Amino acid sequence: MSQRTVLLCDLDAFFAAVEILDRPELAGKPVIVGHDPRSRGVVATCNYEARRYGVRSAMPMAEAVRRCPHAVIVPPRHQRYAEMSRRVMEIYARFTPLIEPVSVDEAYLDVTGRPGLRVAAAIKRAVLQETGLVVSVGVGPNKFLAKLACDLSKPDGLREIRADQARAVLAPLPVDRLPGIGPKTAARLRDLGIETAGELQRRPLQWFNAVFGSRGPLMYRLARGEDDRPLQPQSRAKSLSDEITFDRDRPAAALLPVLLACSEQVGRRLRQGGCLAHTVTIKVRFPSFVTITRSRTLPYSFDDDATIYRTARELYETHILNTDLPVDDPTGRRLIRLLGVQVSGLVDRSAPRQTTLFDPESRQRQRLHQVIDDVRRRFGERALVRGRRLHGRPRRPSHA
Ligand SMILES: [Mg+2]
Repeated sequence: MSQRTVLLCDLDAFFAAVEILDRPELAGKPVIVGHDPRSRGVVATCNYEARRYGVRSAMPMAEAVRRCPHAVIVPPRHQRYAEMSRRVMEIYARFTPLIEPVSVDEAYLDVTGRPGLRVAAAIKRAVLQETGLVVSVGVGPNKFLAKLACDLSKPDGLREIRADQARAVLAPLPVDRLPGIGPKTAARLRDLGIETAGELQRRPLQWFNAVFGSRGPLMYRLARGEDDRPLQPQSRAKSLSDEITFDRDRPAAALLPVLLACSEQVGRRLRQGGCLAHTVTIKVRFPSFVTITRSRTLPYSFDDDATIYRTARELYETHILNTDLPVDDPTGRRLIRLLGVQVSGLVDRSAPRQTTLFDPESRQRQRLHQVIDDVRRRFGERALVRGRRLHGRPRRPSHA
């Protein structure tokens, strides 16, 4: 494989950093993000001030508070973190389209062909300036070394490990710094008298095959800092849309029910995909085939039909119904050939640890949506139609 340049970007103490951004009075104090220590929760994140007292991620909250009794405890707000994560990922996307998000605060970027350290420094600057967050960036010829470079230089890290430095950098490190070597394997290697990656590097391939079986060749290469694993760019769609082309052109004024149906369709797919969106776009094609789109990005994320429809409808009323766009129809009506709704700016709704942090109102709405989605799945599209849609539906011509 030809030489690649891979970055691993990892936000420092991410949840705690967001809390301190939003509450500057916390700066300089030990901050632990987690639920009430009387519950059985664990530390979601803590800042470096708290780490000085031995507090660590995933430690029971009770233990964390025992170690650092004066720490400020902040309950996690995963929606807020998701929003900040999205902003940071959008900054990354300006540098390369090849991004593999690992978690809410971590992503691999492929910037092959460019000077890795310089790109890394530019990313750090942009993230700090635009969000106030500090990101550590490791640079390497592969994912393993990029991650190692990041881990070794945190916090506020910026480091490159070149291919020709890999063996020397790895040599003194304990074997469990290699991906795929957990505590169990490390203990087994210790029994064999091996503590460091350097000692592994001196073993021949046959030894690896005997010790690791089918993973032997892989581990042999990892011990030398060689890693072919490709980036797996986010496969999830960046947007979801639903559109309808009419069999004959329809008057614009009669199409709000279609807009609602499209909104409900993308809303359902959003929820099925476990995503939240930030932007609503409407697409309108006129009989002349002129097509326009109009978007609005909201200051919060959403997955409910009401928000999608309300936003789509506002766009439609502003840009289609109440404008001076030329009219095709001799009767003076504005006709439309295609109408669609799209949501974009998608982020994962599944919070890294807890998902029960929504306010009761939106939780209730969520439950309602689950019921509606479920009924539709079982009994078909038409099983449930909201009142508004019925009211808005064009009436049949009256023969009376
Ligand atoms: Mg991090």
